[in-house]
Amino acid sequence: EKVFFGNKIIDRDEASFSFDDRSMYFGDGVYEVIRVYGGHPYKMERHFRRLQRSADELDIPYADEEKQALEKAVYELIAANQLDEGFVYMQLSRGIAARDHLYDRHTEPFSFAFTQEMQTPKKQQAEGIAVYLTEDIRWLRCDIKTVNLLGNVLAKRQAADHDCAEAIQHRGDTVTEGSSTNLFIVKNNQLQTHPANHLILNGITRQLVIELAEESGYTVSFTPFTTEALLEADEAFITSTTNEITPVTEVRGTKHGTLDIGPVTSRLQEMLQADIETTRHG
Ligand code: PMP
Repeated sequence: EKVFFGNKIIDRDEASFSFDDRSMYFGDGVYEVIRVYGGHPYKMERHFRRLQRSADELDIPYADEEKQALEKAVYELIAANQLDEGFVYMQLSRGIAARDHLYDRHTEPFSFAFTQEMQTPKKQQAEGIAVYLTEDIRWLRCDIKTVNLLGNVLAKRQAADHDCAEAIQHRGDTVTEGSSTNLFIVKNNQLQTHPANHLILNGITRQLVIELAEESGYTVSFTPFTTEALLEADEAFITSTTNEITPVTEVRGTKHGTLDIGPVTSRLQEMLQADIETTRHG
């Protein structure tokens, strides 16, 4: 198993992290997960653009050479590990420096990447999942994809403890997003999802779904909605790189209810699959 580590492709066993990496002390780093279908990375450019934005927002220097090295690493790792179905994880840390809250703008960033095999969660996509409503306790820059994921991690555990596959976070009454997914509802053939502001991560899959929906004539509203609206929706689904489009069939937590898998969700699933197939077959 090969990994990309500090600008080299090496064996995973040989990679050892520095004691003083700022991502260890402060969660001071950004990351991306790129899905690989049939050995081909899916929407790689969009993920790299978001990595750039995350780095910029955190004042982490991200030079062109770094970007080129990471892009090259994606292909090299897929080849070296003979990855067919899975994903590439990549992380860019602010770098290695003695522990100090105050960062130095001259610290050199440190990046690494690895691949992991995975299969599309077909069963969940076909049958839907239960989600657990929980208060969104995260900071106010959820638009940045940082490795500081404690709110998300606690929410996911809470969901699992209630036999739910995903947590749906809300700030007061307003639904924001899942712990590692975005949420859409459908009401009277209109889609609705939280606006891409500082309160959610603007998912690549979210963006694809919006484009596919608009192409096929659906309107998408970016008005925030309440937990009540989720329960009263005709359909609801979550999106992410690894989940693609997964229907929500049950809501648990402070409010309870069930939902059917509807035609809009199914249609969007088909459209996304068709796009994925063009990648899979090169
Ligand atoms: N929201 C959060 C909080 C996430 O962690 C993720 C997945 N990383 C998403 C949404 C979905 O984003 P994407 O479609 O780019 O995977």
